[in-house]
Amino acid sequence: MPLIIKDEYPETLFREDGKRLDGRDLNELRPIKMEVGIVPNADGSAYLEWGNNKIYAAVYGPREVHPHHLSKPDKGILRVFYRMATFSVFDRKRPAPGRREKEISMIVADCIEPLLFLELYPGTSFEVFIEVMDADGGTRCASTTVAALALADAGVPMKSLVSSVAVGKIDGKKVVDLSGIEDKAGDADLPIAITWYNEEISLLQFDGDMNLDEMNEFLDLAKDALKEIHQIQLNTLKSKYIKLQEETLKQKDNKKGEK
Ligand code: UDP
Repeated sequence: MPLIIKDEYPETLFREDGKRLDGRDLNELRPIKMEVGIVPNADGSAYLEWGNNKIYAAVYGPREVHPHHLSKPDKGILRVFYRMATFSVFDRKRPAPGRREKEISMIVADCIEPLLFLELYPGTSFEVFIEVMDADGGTRCASTTVAALALADAGVPMKSLVSSVAVGKIDGKKVVDLSGIEDKAGDADLPIAITWYNEEISLLQFDGDMNLDEMNEFLDLAKDALKEIHQIQLNTLKSKYIKLQEETLKQKDNKKGEK
């Protein structure tokens, strides 16, 4: 059930017991569920439920570049298309892609490009299609996280995964992983992404009020959350290969039984 009716926000973003409105502690992530290989038509895919966010990512490539003039003779290109479904938010979203969708597509591409070996794929493209079916705050972080997973599922060589989360300030308190209402009614919002092969920050946006000392505290706060998200990504990929291994062994056993 939506918490926001039009632009009316609650007076406080904390309950009487000190927990956040959805029952979380300050440093607690929303529940996260990830799956890979769920879009049969794509070369690789992933699905992510993160709180109320529901997001698909599908990857195609390496393949011929369309339109041709975008292709580069010395390296492959990465194209990311982030879209939010019209029914994904409380107010109907206009179906045509807007400036926000273009910005988030660019952000996700910037986070992912350093992970790829594009110089090995001249004249080709990798395309990542991200479809947000339900949006409730932090979709740029969730999209970056699920896009990396879909690329790994496609078997695209990567230096590492990238994980992302937003930290911020609500009612003067520092929190991890802002929900939609915390994002809108809170004081500050800081989406962060980290590429694990070099442990460098590949996304740092900022909206709101904070000083430099607070910024450093926020980065510390994000670290544990990012590690937790990375572990879920790795476990999701591993479970796919464990399942494949089990199926192959079962098939072998069945064949032996037939002989
Ligand atoms: N949102 C919305 N309508 C829009 C765009 C966004 O209701 O047209 C909501 C949606 O829940 C989104 C949240 O506002 O997750 C915060 O949007 P923001 O632009 O800060 O990006 P995000 O936090 O999703 O990365």
